[in-house]
Amino acid sequence: MPRILLLGGTTEASQLAHALAAAGMDAVFSYAGRTEAPVAQPLPTRVGGFGGVAGLQAWLRDQRITHLVDATHPFAARMSQNAIAACAGIGLPLVALERPPWVPQAGDRWQSVPDIDAAVAALPETPARVFLAIGRQNLAPFAARPQHRYLLRLVDAAPDLPLPQATVMVARGPFTAEGDRALMEEHGITHVVAKNAGGSGAAAKLVAARALGLPVVLIDRPAMAARTTVASVAEVMDWIAAHPADLGV
Ligand code: NAP
Repeated sequence: MPRILLLGGTTEASQLAHALAAAGMDAVFSYAGRTEAPVAQPLPTRVGGFGGVAGLQAWLRDQRITHLVDATHPFAARMSQNAIAACAGIGLPLVALERPPWVPQAGDRWQSVPDIDAAVAALPETPARVFLAIGRQNLAPFAARPQHRYLLRLVDAAPDLPLPQATVMVARGPFTAEGDRALMEEHGITHVVAKNAGGSGAAAKLVAARALGLPVVLIDRPAMAARTTVASVAEVMDWIAAHPADLGV
């Protein structure tokens, strides 16, 4: 009988949790613990880091996990690298559920950049109104451009922001293109900064930027070591079926 660790924190992870629960599978859902009220899951849920590769390996052994599914956000690179290393070290099968990156369409004014620092450097010198849609981590580097007004959309209120001119909107996706267009118009947004997360719910800001003709600074995904990757919940279920539990720890 398989026993699965599902690393979550994304819409896709929640969808997979429902599929695993509906199939009566033995699985544990894991959150990092970044948000105050994480989405409730239909699986036994644990919260918090494992303590690096060694901590994860110990936890996997202790919990008699047979399969690991990494459905973290494409920018959660440390967790994903730890999962790859931990599974390689103990011979545990691993699959990543990862949505494909967004690709530009006609009308898009995207500038792709490799990382956060390059995104900061891509902003203009003259004061702009920036929709900084990158979550709460990695805001500090934008303090190097204090001439801009920043609109932040965060899951939880953030009292101590490293940016001098920031407006915070507390909201949780998925978002709509109409809603994001109205938000950008209301705040007079001139530039959008986003991570190339992929998926539909977070794409609304890009659709809205296209409609408004706004430039988008789009941060590329961090590099990742080789791993088996699928793009749908159904493919994860097939992958589990194709990897008998006795191959695990
Ligand atoms: P990260 O930098 O890759 O991870 C930092 C550390 O947090 C990991 O080494 C691990 O600690 C712990 N961790 C991360 N995800 C975990 C999980 N699902 N279960 C248990 N521990 C976890 O990750 P991050 O970018 O901070 O993302 C944290 C969470 O937010 C993830 O669940 C991710 O899916 C979600 N998220 C991230 C983004 C983003 O833009 N980065 C956006 C939306 C959602 P230990 O080393 O102690 O095990």
